[in-house]
Amino acid sequence: MSKTFYLKTYGCAQNVADSQRIKTHFYNLGFKEVNSWKKADTIIINTCIIRESAENRAYGLLENVHQYRKKEKTKQKIIITGCLVGAALNQKNKKGIPKIEKLKEKFPQVDQFLPISKISFDLDPLRDKKLSALIPISTGCNNFCSYCIVPFARGKEISRPFKEILTEAQKALDSGFTHITLVGQNVNSYGSDLVKEKGSYTLPTKEKVKPVLVKSMGKTRIPTLFPYLLETVAKLPNLKTLSFISSNPWDFSDQLIKVIKENKNIDRLLHLPFQSGDDQILKKMNRNYTSKEYLDLVKKIRKAIPDIILTTDIIIGFPGEDEIAFQNTIKLCKKANFQKAYLNKYSPRSGTISKKLYQETISQKEKRRRWHLLDQLINKVNTK
Ligand code: SAH
Ligand code: SF4
Repeated sequence: MSKTFYLKTYGCAQNVADSQRIKTHFYNLGFKEVNSWKKADTIIINTCIIRESAENRAYGLLENVHQYRKKEKTKQKIIITGCLVGAALNQKNKKGIPKIEKLKEKFPQVDQFLPISKISFDLDPLRDKKLSALIPISTGCNNFCSYCIVPFARGKEISRPFKEILTEAQKALDSGFTHITLVGQNVNSYGSDLVKEKGSYTLPTKEKVKPVLVKSMGKTRIPTLFPYLLETVAKLPNLKTLSFISSNPWDFSDQLIKVIKENKNIDRLLHLPFQSGDDQILKKMNRNYTSKEYLDLVKKIRKAIPDIILTTDIIIGFPGEDEIAFQNTIKLCKKANFQKAYLNKYSPRSGTISKKLYQETISQKEKRRRWHLLDQLINKVNTK
């Protein structure tokens, strides 16, 4: 009889995409998937640590499995992977010891801490046929927003080769998918690292293109290949809808707007996180734009693509977010007219700049109040 595994995934689209390859990895080792952890020989937990609440959910499952294993005397194995392991491998404590050592001490019940980098892109993902085919185009992030653990958990941004992405997209279409989602922490900066010489880049079609230089706050920030990638994938035959997630406002080029406008199969639902509508808070968050610049971008996108629908992410209760700052977020929401907002209460994360520099100033109760106000303003109105 073959061995069995149960895989639980927490977190973003990137984790979901990773899990699809983790499954293949375990099938290749002779395992079969089961849909209940009590029935599995091996339980794999793909963790998310973006907020404390997400981290705690993984610990909750870990504890449940541990207790069950003890009580029933089963020989089940527990494997932890994902961002918890990534951050622990990349971060050191004050004495210079890698945090992974502490993690192993803290959780002796875990049999293996599996770094996600061990799961190769060469593996064919096992996808859910009913959903969009998720295709990772880059890993990591170079932005270091002050609150965010991702650059520590996933390391610096590395783009997958253009050709490799096209091959995976074509394979997904050949196997019957009609909807593709390109996934990265900041898709708009795709290819920055691939553009070695600034002059030109040769696409798989042998066409030589100039990397798109994205200007932000008067400065040239990145040369990107994302508009070319998006357009090339959009033109693949039989592709009905092409989405991408996530986009940073300050890397959104005019060329990207043009590509979306001209390719009707690119999703008109655009996720564009803004986090805060207050300029001082945005500065403390190390987000490289002001609320006016964000709204100007929204205006420009809506003018070029009138049927665009926007969704966003907001952080509630960042240190120093007083009532005026919160009202600035409300004002921005009213002007931008989002269809949906993912509302995240600020959670200090170990090793991030905001945790080191700023004391929390907003109580949980006040964060909840603000959460409900924004939920009413954006999400409840749109689901009526
Ligand atoms: N790369 C994406 C976001 C990835 S994280 C982007 O920049 O748009 C997903 C969301 O989690 C973020 O947009 C933010 O709203 C939220 N988030 C990240 N760190 C957080 C923290 N420490 N506390 C609360 N929310 C956080
Ligand atoms: Fe985190 Fe900012 Fe990178 Fe998004 S862009 S993953 S919020 S550091």
